[in-house]
Amino acid sequence: PGTTAQDQVQQLCLTVQDFPRPGISFRDLTPVFSDGPAFRAVIDDLVKPFTGTFDLVAGIEARGFLLAAAVAYATGTGVLAVRKPGKLPRPVLSESYSLEYGEAKLEIHQDDVAPGTRVLVLDDVLATGGTLAAATALFEACGAQVVGCAVVLELTELQGRLKVQQYPVHTVVAS
Ligand code: AMP
Repeated sequence: PGTTAQDQVQQLCLTVQDFPRPGISFRDLTPVFSDGPAFRAVIDDLVKPFTGTFDLVAGIEARGFLLAAAVAYATGTGVLAVRKPGKLPRPVLSESYSLEYGEAKLEIHQDDVAPGTRVLVLDDVLATGGTLAAATALFEACGAQVVGCAVVLELTELQGRLKVQQYPVHTVVAS
């Protein structure tokens, strides 16, 4: 593998046609995450534009959890899991959205995030943008300040960035 995060993602990311539905070209970052130097390079690149600007890093279920935990540990912030429905035990805020391949919903506990908290939102892939938009809406509903979003891979042709255009969006690789 190359040395930059971009090189590592481009070399290790696998594309699987027609998963999970016909017509979807699924980007599988598993080999990037399971390669130690590649994962570290990706984490460092993800957080770089936001260093010192956030108190809490949120990861979207499930691959976003891996990114968020690593960023939180590296920067000394807290970490929060943005969950799929039915996983959280206490009263939740919930946001529905449409996905490249279906409908979905995301949840956090209604008291997880204090007003004014500066939140960075992470996920693996930015496709149509519905997922990141729903997650940011949850934090806005708490009175938190979303400082930005970061993803490993942006599928630019889907123009998902437009759904979160009010925030800085950093992508390690745009393709
Ligand atoms: P979207 O809401 O369309 O931006 O979709 C982003 C979410 O769905 C992320 O959590 C991704 O993990 C997943 N996803 C959507 N499309 C793809 C794709 N083509 N390859 C990999 N993951 C995808």
